[in-house]
Amino acid sequence: MTFNFRRPDSYFAWKNKEILKRFSRYKDIIDKNKLARYIIAKSFECNFNVDASLEELEQLLKIKSKEFKNLLNEEPSQLENIEIKNKSYLELLETLAYKYLRECIFCERMCKIDRRDGKKGFCLIPEESYISSAFLHYGEESVLVPSGTIFFQGCNFSCVYCQNYDISQTWKGKKALSEVAKRINPQDLANIAEQLAKQNALNINYVGGDPIPNIHTIISSLKFQTSNICQLWNSNFYLTEKSLNLLIDIIDLWLPDFKFSNECALKYCGIPNYFEIISRNLKIIHNKGSGEIIIRHLVLPNHTECCSKPIMEYISKEVPNSAVNIMDQYRPEFKSYIYPEINQYPSSKEIKKIKEYANDLGILWEPVS
Ligand code: SF4
Repeated sequence: MTFNFRRPDSYFAWKNKEILKRFSRYKDIIDKNKLARYIIAKSFECNFNVDASLEELEQLLKIKSKEFKNLLNEEPSQLENIEIKNKSYLELLETLAYKYLRECIFCERMCKIDRRDGKKGFCLIPEESYISSAFLHYGEESVLVPSGTIFFQGCNFSCVYCQNYDISQTWKGKKALSEVAKRINPQDLANIAEQLAKQNALNINYVGGDPIPNIHTIISSLKFQTSNICQLWNSNFYLTEKSLNLLIDIIDLWLPDFKFSNECALKYCGIPNYFEIISRNLKIIHNKGSGEIIIRHLVLPNHTECCSKPIMEYISKEVPNSAVNIMDQYRPEFKSYIYPEINQYPSSKEIKKIKEYANDLGILWEPVS
């Protein structure tokens, strides 16, 4: 790991023993001692009939996912030892993703509309994906920089305080997607990722808006990507279990948000059952996925008791191997004026209280916050 002059904290984070332990596979991919999961998925032969029923393919996915996890234990470590198969596990994931698009269930809004037939659900993203920008990001967590970040246009949330509202919401109903973002197909996305890899990105960071409505494009792009680089899922994490099943084996590093109680998520973002869904997904990636997770907790003003503390308690009990970015950069933006309690900055006293609470619970937060 070379010294990063733009972010000296990344050098010191990688000196932290717990960081090295909890993110060992990610570090091994960076150091070229291990292969990104998606490459192994491409070398894992998987014969199936694309016209098989959804249920048959989902059943096959269950079986193959177990076999894939066994394969990871004896994984080859070098690209030259890898043989890409004509019909692979990755293609099974791609096939299922495009089938789900016919009745979109990518996120828990479960719009169930046929995006392949031009219909649009809550996120207003059609079958094609759109990106607003892609660049080497030096502002992400210490261990992620420089991060090859790809911003997808559109979001399945509608947060009143959104700080990326131009990407996520304000174009909706006013402008066509093509006026505000660039349409891309899987090959285009792969080209962008490869370009970022060549610029020495440590990871390919799918974000937005949110990447969830674009799961099919992202999985499909991996067929065209060849660089041994960590795949990073940076998301509100409100995806369905079926969607998560498509990603769980091919994502190396997870960067989910976890911000609210159910009541506050409904009030500020119009999202039902937030806590249950995010905590369910966190447990799945902690126990069955790579387990290499940085949870982003944005501290909202006046939400210490209802949101921050219960979330810290949940993390310490149920996903103890994760690290937490306690984010203090909330600022009142967009429509936060509707609610006086969030139309202000969090106080330094609140931030301190949450950090102390995290310390009391034994949460690892400092190197990534
Ligand atoms: S990804 Fe979009 S269309 Fe699909 S379920 Fe979610 S909001 Fe609806």
